[in-house]
Amino acid sequence: TSFVELGLVEPICLAVTAEGYENATPIQAQAIPAILAGRDVLGVAQTGTGKTAAFALPILQRLADNKRRAGPKGARTLILTPTRELAQQIGKCFATYGVHLRLKRTVITGGVGMHPQICSLLAGCDIVIATPGRILDLAMRGHVKLDGVETFVLDEADRMLDMGFIHDVKKITALLPAERQTLLFSATMPSTVSSLVAGLLKDHLRVEV
Ligand code: AMP
Repeated sequence: TSFVELGLVEPICLAVTAEGYENATPIQAQAIPAILAGRDVLGVAQTGTGKTAAFALPILQRLADNKRRAGPKGARTLILTPTRELAQQIGKCFATYGVHLRLKRTVITGGVGMHPQICSLLAGCDIVIATPGRILDLAMRGHVKLDGVETFVLDEADRMLDMGFIHDVKKITALLPAERQTLLFSATMPSTVSSLVAGLLKDHLRVEV
């Protein structure tokens, strides 16, 4: 399946073609149309399947289609991932795929100073990619507002729970609006992840590769 056939617009197709992607991977072919349509999606997929582009490409398109601006300290998309390295990688993917779009993006992780992060969040962001501890800390201090999030992504949910982030994740999701799109990706589906899915997703499409 080509990216055009999946409903992606030219600026995004150009960016993936420039990366050398010719056809969508199976998870991309299944997930992209559903995410573009605004549905909640559960993706059961390992790293290496193309899962990052599976959520990044349709999120970029929806943000670009609806040019609403994030309010001060606001975030339109929140992506939670378990490690700093993954957050940086996802940030690079959004930069690459969104090269022809004018969207504001920031990566928020622990281990670095808070002040530059506070500054980057101040004017509002289209895309915030974060690890749970630091974004929760910033939210509690009033430096980021999550009540306007349109799309929420929980990446590597099984690893997130293994690393003990469940309480942080629950506190963060309590700050999100009820009316939102939720995408959850996990390599495995233990019962802890299933109950998270039951609590967070509405009428979701399950995609497995
Ligand atoms: P991920 O599963 O998101 O970690 O992606 C694994 C790797 O596959 C990354 O290096 C991507 O650049 C690459 N990739 C993602 N989608 C495609 C595609 N449709 N065609 C070729 N490579 C891809």
